[in-house]
Amino acid sequence: MTHRIALVGIGKIARDQHIPAIAGNADFSLAATASRNAEVGGVTAYRTLERLLDCEPEISCVSLATPPQARYDDARRALEAGRHVMLEKPPGATLSEVHDLQRLAERMQVTLYATWHSRHAAAVADARDWLSQRKLLRLQIDWKEDVRYWHPGQEWIWEAGGLGVFDPGINALSVMTAILPAPVHLVKALLSFPANRDTPIAADLVFSPMDGAPVAAAFDWREQGPPKWNIQIETSDGTAVLSQGGARLTVDGVELSAGPDEEYAHLYAQFAELIAAGESSVDLAPMRHVADAFTLGRRATVSEFEW
Ligand code: NAP
Repeated sequence: MTHRIALVGIGKIARDQHIPAIAGNADFSLAATASRNAEVGGVTAYRTLERLLDCEPEISCVSLATPPQARYDDARRALEAGRHVMLEKPPGATLSEVHDLQRLAERMQVTLYATWHSRHAAAVADARDWLSQRKLLRLQIDWKEDVRYWHPGQEWIWEAGGLGVFDPGINALSVMTAILPAPVHLVKALLSFPANRDTPIAADLVFSPMDGAPVAAAFDWREQGPPKWNIQIETSDGTAVLSQGGARLTVDGVELSAGPDEEYAHLYAQFAELIAAGESSVDLAPMRHVADAFTLGRRATVSEFEW
């Protein structure tokens, strides 16, 4: 059965990834959009999800591609209307609001899918399998990009709830939590806030060691030139580098795994599977680390940021 799906928040990621992924998946057909200022040619457009839900009883699924601060109200609305819901990352602005959505989805007996697209990058599963056979000696994440290039004009990333550098950084944490054989927790953090902004431009995180092996992350939006989206995994039997956001795995310089970007194709395939199985998937581990960084982290004030 093809699910009629609505896409909410027609912005960068909706156009780059969601629309092509829905078009490429026979389980879904894009039936309507809800966006205050944007439309998709040939698709029924609404300004609000509220109106869309009132007018489109046949739409069974809603995919939310808005910024995190706008996520909860729409997710709640869609779940209350008995629709299956897929959430962009991070799944909300707070952990508590996502817990609330989980309870609501359960009560309404519909699927809630909190996605982590980076976990579906081509080499992530191979990195997890490779590490599972070895003793970890050190894991270091470097997630550094030029915010002006990757987030041009996006004011919401600098507003409270927009996460700042954790917006990309949470992708690294979603991969870290997928490949480590057991959980770690944050023990130290330094967050660097531009003097004129509400969210950090850089973060240095130290996690509890894994069987004695140090685990740390450095996120920075002040990087110039090509981005660095790397996780270095030193083991007793070689050093792996998971690079390009999880798309490529090398071991001691030799490529072990790489592949094309099919992250969003996988997300929609998994959404269809969850609906068919009558299940939800909400793993909040990456978001817990971010919340911990905001509660535990020391704050440094750095130069003002202007576009
Ligand atoms: P975006 O283009 O800035 O925003 C998406 C759309 O959401 C906007 O165009 C806007 O459309 C709507 N919107 C609703 N409420 C809003 C609000 N309070 N502030 C701003 N826009 C609002 O953002 P994006 O880059 O697509 O990111 C959206 C989500 O996808 C984020 O959670 C992000 O982490 C995630 N994501 C982004 C990327 C990426 O490469 N950009 C990659 C993976 C995941 P209307 O004005 O028409 O309502």
